[in-house]
Amino acid sequence: MKRIYDDERMLAAGFIGGTLSKDFGNARDAETTKKIFKELHLPADKILGLKQEHTDTIISITTEEELAAYKEQKEHIADAWLIGLNNIGAMILTADCVPLFLWDEEGKYVGLAHCGWRGIVKKLPQKLAHLMKEKNKEAKLFAYIGPHIEKCCFEVKEDVASQFSQQCLIKKDGKIFVDLTKEIVLQLMAEGVDPLKIKRGCHCTCTCCNEQDFFSFRRTKQKDSLMSFIYKIDR
Ligand SMILES: [Zn+2]
Repeated sequence: MKRIYDDERMLAAGFIGGTLSKDFGNARDAETTKKIFKELHLPADKILGLKQEHTDTIISITTEEELAAYKEQKEHIADAWLIGLNNIGAMILTADCVPLFLWDEEGKYVGLAHCGWRGIVKKLPQKLAHLMKEKNKEAKLFAYIGPHIEKCCFEVKEDVASQFSQQCLIKKDGKIFVDLTKEIVLQLMAEGVDPLKIKRGCHCTCTCCNEQDFFSFRRTKQKDSLMSFIYKIDR
């Protein structure tokens, strides 16, 4: 069944967004993406894309000048967005990585980040929150941590585990698991985000456990991807 994993606080802040379940199709395919936007009544030409490479680079589209500069460039290697213009949206792809949505209560700025463990170690969540605070000092930030591989399934070897703080590791039966959600919450808190304003997933939104709703690279070794998007409404 098609389902959008989102947060009702988004609409209150003047944008729509969420992570689409796998029945919408593999969003890695451009034709499928076009169909999805049509189905959601969103203008495909206003939803910006990027080339993800597990960086900590954020594309900022908060002025017409920034939008024009984006359009002039052919390729955009980055893993996060900061959108501050109405009627403009952005998308990312994930298949176990974390889609992180971040916004202020008035929806002046809306952020979306593709956070794999590499991006998280590079502190991409914290950097996005920091940039949003820079743009809007008084802003109270809200966050929604979308469906991703949860601590139940994200088993790693020592080389990856050693890059995380002990409090984000779970050791069980000689195996090590990383709690990516916890690390993101800690990074957002370091930027002054109230943990009560962070909505997070659970076992049922684990991309690896929930075969019915999500693609998971860990589970299938296929590169099929889920789409996460934001779109700022003019109001
Ligand atoms: Zn799981």
